[in-house]
Amino acid sequence: MKSYRKELWFNIPTRRAFINITPQVEECLRESGIKEGLVLVNAMHITASVFINDDESGLHHDYDVWLEKLAPHEPVSQYRHNAGEDNADAHMKRQIMGREVVVAITGGELDFGTWEQIFYGEFDGRRRKRVLVKIIGEC
Ligand code: ZN
Repeated sequence: MKSYRKELWFNIPTRRAFINITPQVEECLRESGIKEGLVLVNAMHITASVFINDDESGLHHDYDVWLEKLAPHEPVSQYRHNAGEDNADAHMKRQIMGREVVVAITGGELDFGTWEQIFYGEFDGRRRKRVLVKIIGEC
């Protein structure tokens, strides 16, 4: 069995954003040379997510509105976590959108369902943050 590990770095200039990271994960897969196996992609921060869904801007807007209803950023004083911080909402948004995804690798390709793409969800940006890509399998 072969294994491959890489960290993808992000520095999102806004507090919140959704970024399609499928091309970077596909590049990792090419670098790994693995043809059959599994790829794990996870956010390495507790205020960011990795998830799979449609690359459709209306949906991303809808996610942002929905997450703001569930866990509004303001007023920051509503959260106990915010004693000395202001990112309690980001922890909650990450919890809903998830930590990681696992995708099957078949014939050297990501074996997606229809319209599936991998996204990085940032909920407390404006600083450098990492995503781990770990691939295991056979060449
Ligand atoms: Zn925090």
